[in-house]
Amino acid sequence: MPADATAISLTTNIAELRGVGDRRAAAFRRLGIRCVADLLLHLPLRYEHELPEQSIDLINQAVPPEHGADRNLAVRGEVLTTRSRGSGRKGRFEATLHDGTGTILLTWFNAPWMREKLHPGATIRAWGRAKRWGDYVQMTNPKWEMYEEESPPEGRGERYRPVYPGHEELPSATIEKAVDEILTPALEKLEDHLHADYRKGAALPPLRDAYRMVHRPEDEEEIRAGRRRLAFDELLLLQLGVMLKRRHRRETLRAPALKHHEGMDQHIRTRFPFPLTDAQNAVITDLVADLTRQEPMNRLVQGDVGAGKTVIAVYAMLMAVASDHQAALMAPTALLAEQHLLSIRRMLEGSRVRIGLLTAATKGAARQELLQDLAEGRIDLLIGTHALLTEQVAFRSLGVVVIDEQHRFGVHQRATIRAKSGDPRSAPHVLVMTATPIPRTLSLTVFGDLDTSSIRSLPPGRQPILTRHVLPEKAPDVYRYVARRIAQGEQAYIVVPVIEESAAGLKDVESHHRHLAQGQLSQARLAVLHGRIGRDEREAVMERFRAGSIDALVATSVIEVGVDVPNATMMVIEHAERFGLAQLHQLRGRVGRGTKKSLCVLIAEPTTEEGGARIDALVSTADGFAIAEKDLAIRGPGELFGARQAGVAPFRVADLPRDLELLRMARRDAEAWVRENPRLLGERDALLKKRLLKAHGKALGLGDVG
Ligand code: ADP
Ligand code: MG
Repeated sequence: MPADATAISLTTNIAELRGVGDRRAAAFRRLGIRCVADLLLHLPLRYEHELPEQSIDLINQAVPPEHGADRNLAVRGEVLTTRSRGSGRKGRFEATLHDGTGTILLTWFNAPWMREKLHPGATIRAWGRAKRWGDYVQMTNPKWEMYEEESPPEGRGERYRPVYPGHEELPSATIEKAVDEILTPALEKLEDHLHADYRKGAALPPLRDAYRMVHRPEDEEEIRAGRRRLAFDELLLLQLGVMLKRRHRRETLRAPALKHHEGMDQHIRTRFPFPLTDAQNAVITDLVADLTRQEPMNRLVQGDVGAGKTVIAVYAMLMAVASDHQAALMAPTALLAEQHLLSIRRMLEGSRVRIGLLTAATKGAARQELLQDLAEGRIDLLIGTHALLTEQVAFRSLGVVVIDEQHRFGVHQRATIRAKSGDPRSAPHVLVMTATPIPRTLSLTVFGDLDTSSIRSLPPGRQPILTRHVLPEKAPDVYRYVARRIAQGEQAYIVVPVIEESAAGLKDVESHHRHLAQGQLSQARLAVLHGRIGRDEREAVMERFRAGSIDALVATSVIEVGVDVPNATMMVIEHAERFGLAQLHQLRGRVGRGTKKSLCVLIAEPTTEEGGARIDALVSTADGFAIAEKDLAIRGPGELFGARQAGVAPFRVADLPRDLELLRMARRDAEAWVRENPRLLGERDALLKKRLLKAHGKALGLGDVG
């Protein structure tokens, strides 16, 4: 046990603090708190605004006699009487409190335990809302604590009392006391990694002040200012890490600078069955600028479902092929890879471009031959799934890699594919495409190393998709309506959550297909599609659906990405509450691809608030960006887009999207910082660098940066 406060350092074990024995130290460890520094980093969840105590006499005069509004009050006094009335849920507990000037009534409803806790003679402090009832001013369900004479030396003025995250053995008040013990000596030893001149420019308080302000704020402004500094630090460290990583990659890796000229551009465009939109052309301009450089491109193209990203990928890949390099397109599902193969083959019919397909189903001799062709340059364009990432896959000269529907790939996979070019000092250009828009907030953090382009408008002639929520008992009406439109030549997708009958009582592909074939859709030509159907059959079904000889597909969510049949105008999703918001938006994106009016029906009986929120969000907007932001709000950032796989620690203080402005500032400053001092060398940035490596060195692989 340290003799005095000066013996407390940041590394002092928590067990050595006054009032913390072995048992309590173990309770602290459960929260990850082992030393003084950990305790300093253990920040309040929120604050209770404590009011200055008032004399009951004054309160009695001030609280109006009739129908006055509730007031927030704090009083201190001795409990005179207590009594319980009623029992169970209707019971209440009353106490009268006297402070020498007058008496006030305290009432707690539904709190039978109060009887054991509060007895006449106790001196307590109570605070909460008060209102006059007849002769008495009464506080209803006030908060309260035993008043200990010696505990608050400076008396009870207005203050913001921290509420620390704890657990049953370690309540907030105990943590508060421990923090009181260490705060002053710990702060003295805390060094700031930001320099005074920088801090002043950014209006950030010194680190010491910031910690004091969040632990022991004097007013709301201090809570805000302290939080702002600590949140900024977190965002800055992450941004610096991302920028250093990017800079390192740019300095050490080389990509083939691709050729590009007017003739090539014309040549590529003749392959597309339509003129590109302005939005598509703008993205291609970004791409061409990147691809003609020796720096490996690392670009994210965001565009809502159906925005037309495929042709952009094809453009980039054909630039590689025209420059005598290879290209690869990686998709998250075999179905999508196959669909890409078909549509790209159609586009390139009669050209010299040699295309291959590699999925988990490519096996045996066919696989060997494909791999050899690839290694020796007899394949120009390889389309596939995760299978592209396996070790045996080697290219002769990989110029461009397109990763479609990024959110299913983590950063590690991006790194693996980048290493496929053979030469350790060279890397292909990487283009990542996503239809599930990454909210701005996240694109700046987890994907902060990607340059981004967005396709903000859909190809011409699209009609908005009408989305409806329908309860299960009305499903027969929905299918009767679908049948009518099928009779007029339109097509439909019917999505159910599972392939086979399950215990959960969910609709499954097989029996729902049977049910519809014998019922409302008996006149329609139906087929089923799911992940367990072999490739040949799957391709055959898709071809027949595309050709119009199948009217409706009963499928699982395998059709979520990549299926593109403009004549399909109806989407029915059974048990829609079972699907994630982004997934529902993707599914809906399978319709509305042509010029006919499309419909999406969500059959659902949401049993949770979250499920209901997802359905509402989908019905109320068709904008993928808005949906992604809502998804973020409903689920929290950790769940989205591989943020977790990316290994980026969740923030302690920063909160997105609330701190978006701060994030922008961090990003701007990190960029400038790295430009000026790319390795963070020198005394001035030494501490910053140390803290950066500690926070993100491992996850971001910064080991070789400095
Ligand atoms: P995404 O991959 O962005 O979801 P796709 O590339 O599959 O979208 O394109 C969706 C549909 O829009 C396809 O049928 C495609 O042929 C069509 N399309 C794409 N670009 C255009 C365009 N500029 N004009 C007309 N139709 C287009
Ligand atoms: Mg696509």
